Amino acid sequence: MSEKRSQFPLPLSSVTGGSTRKPAAPAPVATPQTATQNARENNQHRTGAAPGVAGTAKPATVQPQQTVVRSDLAATEAPRRAMAARTARQGVKDAQVLAALEIVPRHMFVEPGMLAQAYVDISLPIGHNQTISQPYIVARMIELLKGSGPLRRVLEIGTGCGYQAAVLSFVAQEVYSIERIKPLHELAKANLRPLRIANLRLQYGDGMLGLPQVAPFDGIILAAAGLEVPRALLEQLAIGARLVAPVGAQVQHLQRITRTGKAEWTSETLEACHFVPLRPGIA
Ligand code: SAH
Repeated sequence: MSEKRSQFPLPLSSVTGGSTRKPAAPAPVATPQTATQNARENNQHRTGAAPGVAGTAKPATVQPQQTVVRSDLAATEAPRRAMAARTARQGVKDAQVLAALEIVPRHMFVEPGMLAQAYVDISLPIGHNQTISQPYIVARMIELLKGSGPLRRVLEIGTGCGYQAAVLSFVAQEVYSIERIKPLHELAKANLRPLRIANLRLQYGDGMLGLPQVAPFDGIILAAAGLEVPRALLEQLAIGARLVAPVGAQVQHLQRITRTGKAEWTSETLEACHFVPLRPGIA
């Protein structure tokens, strides 16, 4: 479960500036998504324990009262660890997912003006009326995607700034992520470039069509909510594979669909959530 992947973190030294600056201490949850509230209210799985991350660097000594810079990995370790521990308290149990959350530098995916909030459990604007998802929901959806075996090929619809794709690259062998808004596709590429993640491919296009040339997938995750899950995506699931998506308009719920046969799928409706809409076509 907590197998450490050799692909990640790759030469993250390329982005460490050797700085000792520190972000603002992780603030309490400000505007949690509904999913978080639900998780808290129904939290029967409190672990309280911070996840262990094999092979990560020692905690850095950090100076208080200083601001974070994007390149600062060591100094953001403490808030990242706190974020993963909080996510565990919110009910996410998968050690590999929590470890990935602890490793991926979320501050490198938020706008420069929002660095202080990078490790707060909220979604944040990334431009073009889109958002980087709340860390809890990212972790929860990936946990739901994972079955008992390892995830081989995974497809994400809605790359946005690339954060969830980076987290996924830590728990799956191959990750494909599609974004329909060209400047966001470019933004994700720029955000991810310094991390040099070898097992992640970004695609500009309409994710509602999936990626038939690469299918079947062992998991498909949607980061945007439609009124229903596009048929093409259901068809691109391997038998036994899962798809996790927010479904709905004003009121949305996470849905987990498992392909049980050539023409058979089962569906579970889970907690409430709040996502940007899934839209057809490209922009
Ligand atoms: N995965 C992101 C969340 C991005 S928000 C994260 O890590 O935080 C959801 C994204 O889905 C937006 O960027 C939006 O443009 C995109 N999206 C919506 N409909 C889409 C579609 N049909 N195909 C691909 N991307 C889509």
